[in-house]
Amino acid sequence: MRLDKKNIIVTAAAQGIGKATALRFANEGATVLATDINEDRLKDLKKENDNIQIIKLDATNKNEVEAFCSTVDKIDVLFHAVGFVHHGTILDCDENEFSRSINVNVFSAYLMTHNLLPKMLKEKKGSIVIVSSAASNVKGAPNRFIYGTTKAALNGFVKAIAIDHVKDGIRCNAILPGTVETPSWEGRVNMAEDPIQARSDFIARQAMGRLAQPEEIASLATYLASDESDFVTGTLNLIDGGWTL
Ligand code: NAD
Repeated sequence: MRLDKKNIIVTAAAQGIGKATALRFANEGATVLATDINEDRLKDLKKENDNIQIIKLDATNKNEVEAFCSTVDKIDVLFHAVGFVHHGTILDCDENEFSRSINVNVFSAYLMTHNLLPKMLKEKKGSIVIVSSAASNVKGAPNRFIYGTTKAALNGFVKAIAIDHVKDGIRCNAILPGTVETPSWEGRVNMAEDPIQARSDFIARQAMGRLAQPEEIASLATYLASDESDFVTGTLNLIDGGWTL
């Protein structure tokens, strides 16, 4: 019960890292509000743990986010996992793709934090955990031009919030995974010209020779959400099986 009495909002909670984290947070005693754009999959999450409250939310939609946040009374932790992977170099990324990735990966983090931070400030305590990526300013990954750019922006976002609110009881940290076995990763592998080769390439690039499981990311998230990490802010936490070694 490492998160007893914590009110936590999780975004992108319908599958992958967000889902594993919502389930783990609930098992650690937190009151979890799980949000996602995909309502059907949220209902599947609810079937796995009926204590989790589910709410359909497009984290890039200003009106929806504002309306949702106005219903939130007290929040201790925001775990923000919304993200989209565009495949390709700068030459494959047109203006629409550029804007889409900025919108989904960066603007969503801004909207959620901008609307929830005042509630944390009122309590003089709060933990914001943003899911970034090792593919960012930390590691150049091939064909991840706009993805890496947006994740590098999120790393700056985390540092900025951490320093601006360090005296206010607010902590803000990033999780930087390597490759995690999630439905969207499966989708990317299956779309490759040679899915078998793509799968083994993804596995080989992590020095440990395997992918992460979403539950392993949830373990780190639990630490950053809990009071055990009360002295930790502005950190970029790699969890990448040695990919960046
Ligand atoms: P996923 O792609 O499997 O699931 C993403 C979830 O986000 C889906 O349930 C989807 O419905 C939801 N979503 C998409 N757009 C949304 C929006 N506008 N509003 C609300 N919900 C929305 O996710 P994943 O692979 O677990 O990745 C989660 C996060 O982790 C992302 O930010 C991703 O960039 C990051 N990440 C993933 C990996 C990996 O290998 N899977 C590696 C590093 C970082």
